[in-house]
Amino acid sequence: MANLPRKELFHLPQGLIYLDGNSLGPLPVGAAERVQKVMAGEWGDELIRAWNTADWINLPLRVGNQIAQLIGVREGSVATGDTLSIKVYQALAAGLRMRPERRVIVSDDGNFPTDLYMAQGLLDTIDKGYELRLPTPEDVESAITDDVAAVMLTHVDYRTGRLHDMAAITARAHEAGAVMIWDLAHSAGAVPVDLVACNAEFAVGCTYKYLNGGPGAPAFIYVRPDIVEGLQPALAGWLGHEVPFAMELTYRPAMSTERMRVGTPPILQLAVLEEALHAWEGIDMGDLRAASIALTGRFIDEVEARCPQLALITPREPARRGSQVSFAFEHGFAAMQALIDRGVIGDFREPDVMRFGFTPLYLDEDDVIAAAAIIEEVIVKELWRDAKYQAKSRVT
Ligand SMILES: *Cc1c(COP(=O)(O)O)cnc(C)c1O
Repeated sequence: MANLPRKELFHLPQGLIYLDGNSLGPLPVGAAERVQKVMAGEWGDELIRAWNTADWINLPLRVGNQIAQLIGVREGSVATGDTLSIKVYQALAAGLRMRPERRVIVSDDGNFPTDLYMAQGLLDTIDKGYELRLPTPEDVESAITDDVAAVMLTHVDYRTGRLHDMAAITARAHEAGAVMIWDLAHSAGAVPVDLVACNAEFAVGCTYKYLNGGPGAPAFIYVRPDIVEGLQPALAGWLGHEVPFAMELTYRPAMSTERMRVGTPPILQLAVLEEALHAWEGIDMGDLRAASIALTGRFIDEVEARCPQLALITPREPARRGSQVSFAFEHGFAAMQALIDRGVIGDFREPDVMRFGFTPLYLDEDDVIAAAAIIEEVIVKELWRDAKYQAKSRVT
């Protein structure tokens, strides 16, 4: 693990311990310069020519190939763009069309709301009597019956950090004849995933969390190469067309994962993301995982020893958790505000969850211990009682 952490690659403000990279990764050092270059040298001087001269048109694919390496899939099998909500919609819509006789989707009641909302919106639009089945995360496997069209799950639970068994659930879905869709929002850049070994049809994820692409960075979608050519995109955008500039009146999908592209890509965000992904060069995901487990394990030990008031809701067993640690605490919101005020940034999720993300790219054991000491002070001295920590903003 000689090459971790790589703090020098990120802008990390002095005196701050950033435990929220699972929500928004920090600014990569090269990003500002890169944006400046794209703005002045490409957009500014080249204007529309830059689509060719700076190869903007292939930037989504180039970035997709960088992400493909991180999630262990083949070059050309990952498309980037839009938001994760859109990519969830595309994957589910395409998955349902692969099983036209079936009417059930299985997810779980720990899933991130937007994934469920997008599914509900899609099912309302299709209006063919679909059922969205939402068992608890523990009961997912038994909910996968032989009438299930698609299983759509988030690998790492955003609230608790619990990790689904990707291989076992995918095997169960396939055994029942269902299509498998994994949301890797809290996995890409956090835990190794083996989509190829488990043979899942789809995976989607975002890039502003552990991949540090910045607020609003584009999402990604993986499609298993052998099913691409039969796939019917629900969002038949012109840049997913086989020949966009033929300007044909009828949609013909690209003969690759590029058919999951929709409209004009966000070039500035993609440039930042391409720059951010350089931070992963030479990183072995196994090493990263070992470092992550060491950090989360140490954090659990330190906080539990110092703050019996906090109840761990993340699995204690390392193999069953992602790269975050969450504690339930009745006054969690105010406590998190008090922590942020003292330079320890995590976040709060309803109803009472204090969430801390661990990112071995720029955190080490000293950070963990320093954070635990500040948490102890806030909890044991009840510093969260101060009136100024009670008011909620729109984003928590
Ligand atoms: C963060 C997250 C999202 C966010 O979706 P956006 O469309 O990018 O806002 C969606 N799903 C999951 C599971 C997430 O963790």
